[in-house]
Amino acid sequence: MKKTPRIKIPNEVRQYVFQRDRNQCQSCGKVAQETQLSIDHIIPLASGGSNDISNLHTLCLTCNQRKSDKPDSRFQRYFDR
Ligand SMILES: [Zn+2]
Repeated sequence: MKKTPRIKIPNEVRQYVFQRDRNQCQSCGKVAQETQLSIDHIIPLASGGSNDISNLHTLCLTCNQRKSDKPDSRFQRYFDR
C-alpha cells in the first residue's frame, strides 16, 4: 500500500466515494445534476477524523457549507492544497 498524504484526498478515492454514494448528497439527497457535490469528512479532521474512505461521504456544497459554518483555521489550512 503506497503512502498517501494524510490530508489530500486522491482523485480515485473521491470517485469511489461519489460512486458508493450514487452521486447523491448524503444529507439532502440532491444528485450531481442538481447541485455540485463535494467530499466531506464525517468526523472532521480537526476533531481527529481520518482520510479513510469510511470517514468520507458525499455532500453537496450547500450542506457542506452549512455543516462548516464555523471555519476552523487549522482545518482550512489543510485544504489549501
Ligand atoms: Zn445536500
